Amino acid sequence: MSDLRELYQEVILDHNKRPRNFGTLDQPSRTARGHNPLCGDRLTLQLAIEGDRIAQVAFEGSGCAISKASASLMTEAIKGHTVAEAEALFDRFHALVTTPPDAPVSLEGLGKLAVFAGVREYPARVKCASLAWHTMKNAVEAVPVTARTEEE
Ligand code: ZN
Repeated sequence: MSDLRELYQEVILDHNKRPRNFGTLDQPSRTARGHNPLCGDRLTLQLAIEGDRIAQVAFEGSGCAISKASASLMTEAIKGHTVAEAEALFDRFHALVTTPPDAPVSLEGLGKLAVFAGVREYPARVKCASLAWHTMKNAVEAVPVTARTEEE
Protein backbone atom coordinates (compact mmCIF):
# COMPACT_ATOMS: atom_id res chain seq x y z
CA MET A 1 0.00 0.00 0.00
CA SER A 2 2.94 2.39 0.51
CA ASP A 3 3.61 2.58 -3.25
CA LEU A 4 -0.01 3.52 -3.73
CA ARG A 5 0.33 6.18 -1.04
CA GLU A 6 3.32 7.76 -2.76
CA LEU A 7 1.52 7.64 -6.08
CA TYR A 8 -1.52 9.16 -4.38
CA GLN A 9 0.47 12.19 -3.24
CA GLU A 10 2.11 12.54 -6.64
CA VAL A 11 -1.16 12.39 -8.56
CA ILE A 12 -2.98 14.75 -6.16
CA LEU A 13 -0.17 17.33 -6.32
CA ASP A 14 0.02 17.13 -10.10
CA HIS A 15 -3.71 17.48 -10.72
CA ASN A 16 -4.07 20.19 -8.09
CA LYS A 17 -1.32 22.23 -9.71
CA ARG A 18 -2.42 21.58 -13.28
CA PRO A 19 -6.10 20.65 -13.25
CA ARG A 20 -7.28 19.07 -16.52
CA ASN A 21 -10.44 20.30 -18.23
CA PHE A 22 -10.49 23.40 -16.00
CA GLY A 23 -12.69 26.19 -17.36
CA THR A 24 -16.09 26.48 -18.99
CA LEU A 25 -17.73 25.13 -22.15
CA ASP A 26 -19.24 27.36 -24.84
CA GLN A 27 -22.35 25.23 -25.17
CA PRO A 28 -22.86 22.94 -22.21
CA SER A 29 -25.94 20.71 -22.28
CA ARG A 30 -25.76 20.11 -18.52
CA THR A 31 -24.49 22.20 -15.62
CA ALA A 32 -24.36 21.05 -12.00
CA ARG A 33 -22.90 22.53 -8.86
CA GLY A 34 -21.38 20.80 -5.91
CA HIS A 35 -20.66 22.00 -2.39
CA ASN A 36 -18.92 20.27 0.49
CA PRO A 37 -19.63 22.51 3.50
CA LEU A 38 -17.37 20.47 5.78
CA CYS A 39 -14.30 21.63 3.89
CA GLY A 40 -15.61 24.55 1.83
CA ASP A 41 -15.08 22.86 -1.54
CA ARG A 42 -17.21 24.22 -4.37
CA LEU A 43 -17.32 23.29 -7.99
CA THR A 44 -19.35 23.88 -11.11
CA LEU A 45 -19.34 21.07 -13.65
CA GLN A 46 -20.40 21.42 -17.26
CA LEU A 47 -21.03 18.59 -19.70
CA ALA A 48 -21.73 18.60 -23.43
CA ILE A 49 -23.62 15.36 -24.07
CA GLU A 50 -24.00 14.23 -27.67
CA GLY A 51 -26.31 11.27 -28.07
CA ASP A 52 -25.38 9.09 -25.12
CA ARG A 53 -21.76 10.22 -25.05
CA ILE A 54 -20.07 12.84 -22.86
CA ALA A 55 -18.30 14.70 -25.65
CA GLN A 56 -16.88 17.54 -23.56
CA VAL A 57 -16.51 18.28 -19.89
CA ALA A 58 -15.20 21.22 -17.91
CA PHE A 59 -15.15 22.32 -14.29
CA GLU A 60 -14.43 25.40 -12.24
CA GLY A 61 -14.30 25.93 -8.55
CA SER A 62 -12.26 26.37 -5.45
CA GLY A 63 -11.40 24.05 -2.65
CA CYS A 64 -8.74 21.85 -1.18
CA ALA A 65 -6.15 19.99 -3.23
CA ILE A 66 -8.00 16.68 -2.98
CA SER A 67 -11.32 18.06 -4.22
CA LYS A 68 -9.64 19.83 -7.12
CA ALA A 69 -7.47 16.88 -8.08
CA SER A 70 -10.45 14.54 -7.83
CA ALA A 71 -12.52 16.78 -10.11
CA SER A 72 -9.64 16.93 -12.59
CA LEU A 73 -9.22 13.14 -12.60
CA MET A 74 -12.97 12.59 -12.79
CA THR A 75 -13.28 14.77 -15.91
CA GLU A 76 -10.41 12.85 -17.55
CA ALA A 77 -12.03 9.55 -16.67
CA ILE A 78 -15.46 10.31 -18.14
CA LYS A 79 -14.57 12.42 -21.18
CA GLY A 80 -15.49 10.61 -24.39
CA HIS A 81 -17.32 7.88 -22.51
CA THR A 82 -21.04 7.12 -22.46
CA VAL A 83 -23.31 8.29 -19.68
CA ALA A 84 -23.79 4.64 -18.64
CA GLU A 85 -20.02 4.14 -18.42
CA ALA A 86 -19.67 7.31 -16.32
CA GLU A 87 -22.38 6.11 -13.95
CA ALA A 88 -20.73 2.68 -13.66
CA LEU A 89 -17.45 4.42 -12.84
CA PHE A 90 -19.24 6.51 -10.19
CA ASP A 91 -20.37 3.27 -8.52
CA ARG A 92 -16.86 1.81 -8.61
CA PHE A 93 -15.28 5.01 -7.28
CA HIS A 94 -17.89 5.31 -4.53
CA ALA A 95 -17.26 1.70 -3.47
CA LEU A 96 -13.51 2.38 -3.46
CA VAL A 97 -13.58 5.39 -1.14
CA THR A 98 -16.28 4.08 1.21
CA THR A 99 -14.68 0.68 1.85
CA PRO A 100 -12.94 0.64 5.26
CA PRO A 101 -9.14 1.06 4.92
CA ASP A 102 -8.42 -2.39 6.36
CA ALA A 103 -10.85 -4.18 4.02
CA PRO A 104 -9.84 -5.52 0.61
CA VAL A 105 -11.04 -3.42 -2.29
CA SER A 106 -11.18 -4.02 -6.03
CA LEU A 107 -9.10 -1.61 -8.11
CA GLU A 108 -10.27 -3.20 -11.34
CA GLY A 109 -11.18 -0.77 -14.10
CA LEU A 110 -10.26 2.28 -12.02
CA GLY A 111 -6.96 3.12 -13.72
CA LYS A 112 -5.37 6.20 -12.16
CA LEU A 113 -8.41 6.63 -9.90
CA ALA A 114 -7.08 3.70 -7.87
CA VAL A 115 -4.81 6.17 -6.02
CA PHE A 116 -7.90 7.36 -4.14
CA ALA A 117 -7.77 4.12 -2.17
CA GLY A 118 -5.37 6.19 -0.03
CA VAL A 119 -8.09 8.66 0.93
CA ARG A 120 -9.82 5.97 2.99
CA GLU A 121 -7.23 6.54 5.69
CA TYR A 122 -8.50 10.10 6.08
CA PRO A 123 -12.29 9.84 6.62
CA ALA A 124 -12.80 13.63 6.56
CA ARG A 125 -11.27 13.70 3.08
CA VAL A 126 -13.58 11.10 1.56
CA LYS A 127 -16.18 13.83 0.98
CA CYS A 128 -13.60 16.05 -0.71
CA ALA A 129 -12.73 13.18 -3.05
CA SER A 130 -16.31 12.22 -3.85
CA LEU A 131 -17.79 15.72 -4.34
CA ALA A 132 -16.97 15.90 -8.06
CA TRP A 133 -18.45 12.44 -8.60
CA HIS A 134 -21.75 13.28 -6.90
CA THR A 135 -21.89 16.47 -8.95
CA MET A 136 -21.25 14.49 -12.14
CA LYS A 137 -24.05 12.06 -11.28
CA ASN A 138 -26.46 14.95 -10.80
CA ALA A 139 -25.32 16.47 -14.09
CA VAL A 140 -25.91 13.32 -16.14
CA GLU A 141 -29.23 12.72 -14.42
CA ALA A 142 -30.11 16.41 -14.94
CA VAL A 143 -30.99 16.89 -11.27
CA PRO A 144 -31.46 20.65 -10.86
CA VAL A 145 -29.98 20.99 -7.40
CA THR A 146 -26.60 21.59 -5.80
CA ALA A 147 -24.93 18.31 -4.89
CA ARG A 148 -24.15 18.27 -1.20
CA THR A 149 -22.01 15.89 0.72
CA GLU A 150 -24.14 16.55 3.81
CA GLU A 151 -27.91 16.32 4.17
CA GLU A 152 -29.49 19.61 5.18
ZN1 ZN B 1 -11.91 19.45 0.67
